[in-house]
Amino acid sequence: MNGPTTFAIHPMTRSNRSRGFGTKAVHAGSEPDPTTGAIMTPIYQTSTYVQSAPGDHKGYEYSRTQNPTRTALQNALAELENGRHGLCFATGMAAIDAVIKTLRPGDHVVSTNDLYGGTYRLFTKIFEGFGVRFSFVDMTDKAQVLAAIRPETRLIWVETPTNPLLRIIDIAAMAELAKKNDCLLAVDNTFASPALQTPLDIGADLVMHSATKYLGGHSDVVMGALIVNDDTLSEKLAFIQNSSGATPGPMDSFLVLRGIKTLHLRMARHCSNAEAVADALQGHGRVDKVHWPGSPDHPGHQIATRQMRGPGGMVSFSLKGDRMEDAFAVLSSTRLFSLAESLGGVESLIGHPASMTHASIPREERLRNGLADTLIRLSVGIEEPADLIDDLMQALDGRS
Ligand SMILES: *Cc1c(COP(=O)(O)O)cnc(C)c1O
Repeated sequence: MNGPTTFAIHPMTRSNRSRGFGTKAVHAGSEPDPTTGAIMTPIYQTSTYVQSAPGDHKGYEYSRTQNPTRTALQNALAELENGRHGLCFATGMAAIDAVIKTLRPGDHVVSTNDLYGGTYRLFTKIFEGFGVRFSFVDMTDKAQVLAAIRPETRLIWVETPTNPLLRIIDIAAMAELAKKNDCLLAVDNTFASPALQTPLDIGADLVMHSATKYLGGHSDVVMGALIVNDDTLSEKLAFIQNSSGATPGPMDSFLVLRGIKTLHLRMARHCSNAEAVADALQGHGRVDKVHWPGSPDHPGHQIATRQMRGPGGMVSFSLKGDRMEDAFAVLSSTRLFSLAESLGGVESLIGHPASMTHASIPREERLRNGLADTLIRLSVGIEEPADLIDDLMQALDGRS
């Protein structure tokens, strides 16, 4: 497998903002604390704010509505995504929930058939009950998306790269469809992070994150975020954020603020480690297919090189044969890769989509979508690549 030679892994944003991504990651949203000069945004662990007279306050009244630590994070995320407004939520799911609450019964959403399981569950098990309608199609095929759009379609919901097959959806093509059909385009940017992909720059109206993953980056916080440009949309979402109340606390906001200061360094290392791991897996006799968008033979490689600044740290692979036990044996014999849900932290994780994240999808449907019983998903961390490769090789060789 050849490396991702056409990617510029060290990211400089293509936006017209003058500073490079690494500089923004370190400085975005942080101003020295006005009262003490503290260089780090304090954790404003407070529920309320004293007013000098009724209605006479410093912009903060109650921490569900606004909190200075959260404000700093929201501004930082907006800057990293080249957007005007950032909004943080208690979890990624709460962020998606807020977006769908901007819709009304009868409204229709087109999304991908390769969607994060929790998003699929929220759409079908919660919002269909309130009369919002959803269609799920193969979004790597523009014709299928076009065919699914109806007069009442209000939103196109994209996730790219997808989980766990790392398929790539063409954001610019989806933006064109959205504009022509008078609906909004939302992109779940969790797998790429703004270090590698900034969808607002290429026509998206809304970016969503599970900040639990790469933005937080240290597996110590659960959080969600939305970034938009449009003032009216931002106001609508802020109204829902405050009314529904799924907001994150100041401690969690601080943790994500701290996480994003190293986002560019972490993502560069996630990408280079993923490349080394994907290469090693490709060369192993027991491995059938390796899925990683940096590989030139990955079906989404061309689009990925256009819309991403690096292929990311997620790799999945299937074993030869179709025995789930073979996958289980590998999953239970890695020593560095920990068997766990989630992704995007500094430590490497290994998972089995068929029995973990995608267990609720019937087997036939899973197989039809290309999700083999032997498929193994890796969130490649930032450890020494040689140690990660050693660990996978000993697990594949059954040496443990
Ligand atoms: C984890 C994840 C979510 C949900 O986010 P939470 O923070 O777990 O609520 C949504 N989309 C993607 C792609 C994810 O990986």
